[in-house]
Amino acid sequence: MSSDLKMADPGPTGRFGEFGGMYVPESLVPACAEVERFFRSAWQDPAFRGRLDALLADYAGRPTPLTRAERLSEALGVDVFLKREDLTHTGSHKINNVLGQGLLTLAMGKKRMVAETGAGQHGVATATAAALFGLECVVYMGEVDTERQALNVFRMKLLGARVEPVRSGSRTLKDAVNEAMRDWVATVEDTHYCLGSVMGPHPYPWMVREFQSVIGNEAREQCRKVLGGADPDFVVACVGGGSNAAGTFAGFVSTRARLVGVEAAGGAAVGRGIPGVLHGMRSYLLQDEWGQILEAESISAGLDYPGIGPEHAWLADAGRAEYHSASDAEVLDALKLLARTEGIIPALEPAHALAWLVRATRDGIVPAGSTVMMTLSGRGDKDAETVMGLLQEGSV
Ligand SMILES: *Cc1c(COP(=O)(O)O)cnc(C)c1O
Repeated sequence: MSSDLKMADPGPTGRFGEFGGMYVPESLVPACAEVERFFRSAWQDPAFRGRLDALLADYAGRPTPLTRAERLSEALGVDVFLKREDLTHTGSHKINNVLGQGLLTLAMGKKRMVAETGAGQHGVATATAAALFGLECVVYMGEVDTERQALNVFRMKLLGARVEPVRSGSRTLKDAVNEAMRDWVATVEDTHYCLGSVMGPHPYPWMVREFQSVIGNEAREQCRKVLGGADPDFVVACVGGGSNAAGTFAGFVSTRARLVGVEAAGGAAVGRGIPGVLHGMRSYLLQDEWGQILEAESISAGLDYPGIGPEHAWLADAGRAEYHSASDAEVLDALKLLARTEGIIPALEPAHALAWLVRATRDGIVPAGSTVMMTLSGRGDKDAETVMGLLQEGSV
């Protein structure tokens, strides 16, 4: 394993090895270049960083705690620490990214944000930031997802956003990304595309990882405090597009911790994917032999993306991070386990990370007595109805 790998600046081409890049229509190249130029200078500007840090603290509620999960640890035979992104304003890590991109939208002198959303969490987060900054907001959401996450649709509307149901393709997240990009092409003069994960064309995978690296940087220092200066043996996070995992890994990539990303079994892009190009990036994608994108399937609308962020593809190939998956049934069990041992109902997405940990401790892949830092990317309120339906069906 090459432990000297860094999650560094991918440079102007946005390449992580053979992955990443900027595969967009010619009309969007200047727009991506503009985002890269503004982000690069903002990220080095102490005034921008100061404004963002103040918002993360006073608006979003950072730093989030690191909770020692005592009864869960006892049940699994390892020491588990939870990074509590569920306790942020809006209830998931997505707020970290949208506050950054909202400030960037203002810096670029734009008045409108468009976004895609799957589970609705990124839509709610973007609508939140848009309200806070006085920006117009349009959120594209697959029609199937608007039905699965009706409450989040209502939240976005309450926050003043317009929600556009997307009826093309599989009517899920992948199609919402296409529509958001189509909007951006037509409105680029006054609109910023607020992409929700470490995916899409350069500079998004890099920029979103940087905005999310606050998770890993805080967690590393918090771990060192409780572990007497040591780093955890394992660092685990769930992976949809991969932003909470990338932000978490960024804090630990130069430590000796084993980095583990957990995908939904029905969306395991690293395990079952093939390199290809989608949504402006080259990465591992679920596709058939003719390159048609396959539909990812999961009980969690936030994890049914048929690809993975390009930096994760690179970390996987380099052997610095490993990627596993968890089945729907394992995820429901893990969700119940966390609820009953710690009094925390997680979102279905981070329940995947826990589901892997449960299996890995049972199989000895995570040896007894190991220390584990797991990112709890969001709270379970948004999924309560889904979980209720599944439990009543008796599918667990
Ligand atoms: C959106 C979401 C995810 C998946 O997105 P990533 O970019 O992979 O982090 C995970 N957890 C929660 C709670 C989410 O809302």
